[in-house]
Amino acid sequence: MIDQATSTLFLADLQNGETGIITKILGHGAFRKRITEMGFVKNKKVLVIKNAPLQDPIEYKIMDSHVSLRRSEARLIEVVPVIDSKENTDIEFDGTILEESLEQLVLEKTKTINIALVGNPNCGKTTLFNHATGKHERVGNYGGVTVDTKEARLIQDGYTINVTDLPGTYSISEYSPEELFVRRHITDNMPDVVVNVIDSSNLERNLFLTSQLMDMNINVVIALNMYDELENKGDKFDYEALAKIIGIPIVTTVASKGLGIKNLFSKIIDVYERRDPVSRHAHINYGVDIEEAISRLRTEIKKNKKLSDKYYPRYTAIKLLENDKSFLGQLVQEEDTISILTLAKKEIEKLEKEFKEKSETIIADAKYGFIHGVLKETYEQQQIDRRQKSNAIDSLLTHKYFGFPFFILFLWIMFQLTFSLGSYPMDWIDSVVGYVGTFLENLLPAGSLRDLLVNGIIGGVGGVIVFLPNILILFFCISLMEDTGYMARAAFIMDKLMHKIGLHGKSFIPLIMGFGCNVPAVMATRTLENRKDRILTMLILPFMSCSARLPVYVLLISAFFPHNQGLVLLSIYLIGIVMAILAALVFKNTFFAKQDVPFVMELPPYRIPTLRNTTVHMWHKSLQYLSKMGTVILSASILIWALGYFPREINFSKNYEGMSSAVKNNSSLSQKEKEEKLNQIDVDKQSERMENSYIGKIGHFIEPAIRPLGYDWKLGVSIITGLAAKEIVVGSMGVLYQSDTHADEYSASLKNKLQEQVFTSGPKAGQKVLNPLVAYSLMLFVLLYFPCIAVIAAIRKEADWKWASFTMLYTTILAWFVAFATYQIGSLF
Ligand code: GDP
Ligand code: MG
Repeated sequence: MIDQATSTLFLADLQNGETGIITKILGHGAFRKRITEMGFVKNKKVLVIKNAPLQDPIEYKIMDSHVSLRRSEARLIEVVPVIDSKENTDIEFDGTILEESLEQLVLEKTKTINIALVGNPNCGKTTLFNHATGKHERVGNYGGVTVDTKEARLIQDGYTINVTDLPGTYSISEYSPEELFVRRHITDNMPDVVVNVIDSSNLERNLFLTSQLMDMNINVVIALNMYDELENKGDKFDYEALAKIIGIPIVTTVASKGLGIKNLFSKIIDVYERRDPVSRHAHINYGVDIEEAISRLRTEIKKNKKLSDKYYPRYTAIKLLENDKSFLGQLVQEEDTISILTLAKKEIEKLEKEFKEKSETIIADAKYGFIHGVLKETYEQQQIDRRQKSNAIDSLLTHKYFGFPFFILFLWIMFQLTFSLGSYPMDWIDSVVGYVGTFLENLLPAGSLRDLLVNGIIGGVGGVIVFLPNILILFFCISLMEDTGYMARAAFIMDKLMHKIGLHGKSFIPLIMGFGCNVPAVMATRTLENRKDRILTMLILPFMSCSARLPVYVLLISAFFPHNQGLVLLSIYLIGIVMAILAALVFKNTFFAKQDVPFVMELPPYRIPTLRNTTVHMWHKSLQYLSKMGTVILSASILIWALGYFPREINFSKNYEGMSSAVKNNSSLSQKEKEEKLNQIDVDKQSERMENSYIGKIGHFIEPAIRPLGYDWKLGVSIITGLAAKEIVVGSMGVLYQSDTHADEYSASLKNKLQEQVFTSGPKAGQKVLNPLVAYSLMLFVLLYFPCIAVIAAIRKEADWKWASFTMLYTTILAWFVAFATYQIGSLF
């Protein structure tokens, strides 16, 4: 019984002799009406008389009469099975309790309402969803922020309401994958009530989608959102009159303040229970010629019972006349549709000849005509609207010449805030991490545990957690740009340039963010509407050199390029950008060659953002970031630490113990000299231990692969440790090149060690490892190879494993070839 409460069964699933209680009838209104007339209503018991696997129709007994239903019909009737207590003797409780729990289950099932939120991009669906369900999804004043569906439930007046937030669309035709997705969700999942969220400040365009929902003959409730803005403008809108005309109840809401949401859900319950006086099926009148065509087609469609159960016949007729490709594709899969399709073709030809227009356009025009008409009757607009104010601002911010300087100014402010303002809390966190490390070091006895905590966990995670403030500030700025509507303008400005490399204007934002940290940048690709753009952007993002790579460049440049330091650094960044562009061009022409979807660059009106949205957004991000600390980075740090720490039993080549006691007992040395010598001995010992550790063995193992690049095994190990996070590369070099990491002149001494380093074995034994050429090739390698584990995890989350693995492979292979070419060609000179 418990199990059945969670899963949903349909009448067609019941076997011979089984009884079920009807809890819900799905499907379009006309189908429901017919089935209800046959006696199939909520709470009625049905007994299966004959249901063989391949048999159609199935015979049932309901209210003492025998009826047969087609399998396709029985699939649309939700039931709760009645288990006969006599047959199930192993069930302990007696009949009455069984009855009670059954009743409870039926009640639960009949009081579960599935709803879907549909509406134009940016109309406030996600804000409404968040307010109603208490979830914190991302919202933004930026078309298409919602790209997947989100589900959550709420309970009101004893009803459990499952809410699905769908992607925003202007229409539900075949125009884009999102539109198709929304339409499929409505026809396949058959939500009990569809909530059409409408932006009050743009009624005409928003009602177009409504007109398509009307064609489908499904239960709809309109949430007239952003009603505050309509009132502020002083417009007068008799929405109750509109509701009566279109047969759809309308509830006003201000989602951003949570107003009207309770009312909306009461209305949804009323419509579900069929006790709302306004809710009815109303047709749009398409005019004599189209109506006649519809009516002839409908007669033909109605002959195919299976089809007319699935889709409302008038809707099928309209879709056919619109010549909707994907709908046709679905129709061809149904049985006996040839006569319907031939008739549709004939009717379309007739209409197009008469109107001298595409049939699709004729129908869309008729819809707009209808909307225009009803609004004329119910809506009275004030003279000056917000659009005009927005236009005034836009004439400056998206100006042909002034637009770019403004954009760069805003970006500059954003990065300044991120790095300069962020450096204060960064220092605080850094000192807290340092303090905790020292505290533990003093508290715990020396040994593996202390080493794991201090060097493995605190060293690894602490090194990354210091970036949290920067990430928070960056995301605050970005959400502010989104909420005010500026982000859409930025995308607009960049669109032309980005199109040249197969990307979208909106891809520019994540790419820019990538210079800070690739992880939030990958997450920011969510703002792109279609999957192709999202994946393409993620694939090239790793070439945007993130701030974690900077310490590596700084070290190598200061050691090997005493002149033109800035120029060398800039060249690395530029090579990254060039690589990104080349990769984008290649991918665009290979993986995504045919999927070019036209799109509308939506410029929503400017809005004053609410603090609630912006903070919710920020909090959400910080949680995501922290959870990544706790999982990916934590495990990677522990792994790398362990690989470097074990095995502990090593036969050292020198007697370090003896050497240090000799130094300690040497009275001819000053205290300072002693300390220096002891440190050096310790560093040498650690370095030998590292060489013999597992990670050292891995380094030796991969040495043949990196020899052609001019690297020794120590660089190999450093590169491997950089998989966890690129800044770790510097730390590993510090350990391996036997530089005293405790000394103050740490980087200076590391620089010297790098310059002096020679090969210890192989054909080049005795020669210097690093020179300007090798250093440059190494910087390119670090720039291009495997982004870091956190980025891969983010890509896996946003795309899938396939793309994450592909990114790991192609970036590393590319890095190898570029480093190889640089080294080999450079060696010629
Ligand atoms: P979606 O694309 O439909 O999911 O839209 P969002 O939920 O992301 O909202 C877009 C923007 O509209 C956000 O900046 C919200 O703060 C804002 N917004 C949502 N509802 C209202 C409302 O009722 N009034 C006002 N003034 N703004 C709103
Ligand atoms: Mg949304």
